[in-house]
Amino acid sequence: MKDSYQREIDYLRVSVTDRCNERCQYCMPKGYHGWAEKADHLSADEIVRLVEASTHLGFRKFRLTGGEPLVRRDIVEIAERMWLLPGVQTLGLSTNGVMLKELAQPLKAAGVRSINISLDAMDEAIYRQLTGGRWEAAMEGIGAAAAAGFEVVKLNCVMIKGVNDEQIVPLARFGAAMGMPVRFIELMPLAPGGPVDERHFFSVKDAMLRLREYGELRPTQLRRPGHGPARYYQYGRGLVGFIGSVTCDDFCLSCNKLRLTADGKLRPCLGQHGEVDVTKALRENRRFALEQVFAQAIQQKPENHSFAENFQVQRPMTAIGG
Ligand code: SAM
Ligand code: SF4
Repeated sequence: MKDSYQREIDYLRVSVTDRCNERCQYCMPKGYHGWAEKADHLSADEIVRLVEASTHLGFRKFRLTGGEPLVRRDIVEIAERMWLLPGVQTLGLSTNGVMLKELAQPLKAAGVRSINISLDAMDEAIYRQLTGGRWEAAMEGIGAAAAAGFEVVKLNCVMIKGVNDEQIVPLARFGAAMGMPVRFIELMPLAPGGPVDERHFFSVKDAMLRLREYGELRPTQLRRPGHGPARYYQYGRGLVGFIGSVTCDDFCLSCNKLRLTADGKLRPCLGQHGEVDVTKALRENRRFALEQVFAQAIQQKPENHSFAENFQVQRPMTAIGG
């Protein structure tokens, strides 16, 4: 289905929880406790019903996310049931990787095609400073994802000036060695009151300059190895992508997605506050009620995000779904 700006919207990011086993400074506000899982989170049945309804409107690409989707105990069941739906053509999952050692194989068997793993540093101490987590566990998870045989495994790095900008080249080299594209993401203002703010902003232009000090970046005509907004370049033997959510003027031109939050809101845009509640339609049991809320959310998609306009966070990233 097309939105008001003639963009085809066929990609749904499904957040299954706002909980996480890490505490990334750019995503999770200090002291954030999250919702009570039982009381507020959509159940597996509800998620599957919503995904099925979305396929009737032409959604074909799906990604499970959070918070950390792997902390949800029924994540493999959710993936499996989504993959079995006739309209679901691709199924991906975004994770910090630390639980992939146990879950990579079951997720692959359930139908997950591609995995995005957050990796902000090759240096253990910087990784810990930024995420509060263990770098070794993330590395074990990356190894498990490589062994499980997913179609694509990509690495994601949110760039923070003065904290991990020196890690960009080592991360690109690691990705090349592993055969995994590395995407460098601009910091979005989505964790209020955190220690990381606009003073730490490092743009994709800055990242390209940094990478070019050590090698050539060659624009690639290769099909994008995902359905997201990254632009890819060959870098040595590897592939690097840039997600200029804040500085690229044409970033929203090809936007193709909606987000479903774990507490049952459709979010037309990451960088605008509007949301459409789906919980009432889920309870109503009225024919086409769910399709109608999807159509409404698509119609409410703005032309552009408002990150540059003194955007004030109401919902942190961990509670939206990245
Ligand atoms: N826990 C999983 C993970 O870390 O990949 C999935 C959820 S996380 C919110 C999804 C993606 O959003 C990650 O790549 C993360 O780095 C990114 N992200 C989180 N907060 C961000 C922010 N303020 N600006 C840009 N990207 C952000
Ligand atoms: Fe957790 Fe992912 Fe947010 Fe980090 S980016 S706090 S791993 S949800």
